[in-house]
Amino acid sequence: MASIFSRIIAGEIPSYKVAENDKFYAFLDINPMAKGHTLVVPKQETDYIFDLDDDLLAEMTLFSKKVVQAIEKAIPCKRVGVMVIGLEVPHAHIHLIPIQKETDLILTNPRVKLSSDEFEKIAEAIRGNVK
Ligand code: 5GP
Repeated sequence: MASIFSRIIAGEIPSYKVAENDKFYAFLDINPMAKGHTLVVPKQETDYIFDLDDDLLAEMTLFSKKVVQAIEKAIPCKRVGVMVIGLEVPHAHIHLIPIQKETDLILTNPRVKLSSDEFEKIAEAIRGNVK
């Protein structure tokens, strides 16, 4: 069965899209650690990110860099933190999380609750800055 992220990429499950090209899809995490928390996913469904072939992994990093630069323009933050966890969804993804301080990256922090309108506005602001 296709992963939940493959179903999102296919448009079967809605998402707040931030960026897309032929190989990758970026969208807002539904249970964000901060406003603008984004996931970058390869369209090729592979569970573990470090099982991706070298070229795809390198391209995923460069695609993430574009998304980070757009997040930095759209969301006030000191840095965009980068995490790979992958314990919940078995489809490789990179977390991009706007942060003000180190402790903003503690996984057990309470998550930010946003309305669908707020999600859409954040996604639109990031999308508008993707080059
Ligand atoms: P991980 O696999 O890296 O441990 O966590 C998976 C991440 O995907 C979590 O941060 C979770 O909130 C997010 N997530 C899980 N299901 C969905 C979904 O259906 N839509 C979106 N936008 N994010 C999801």
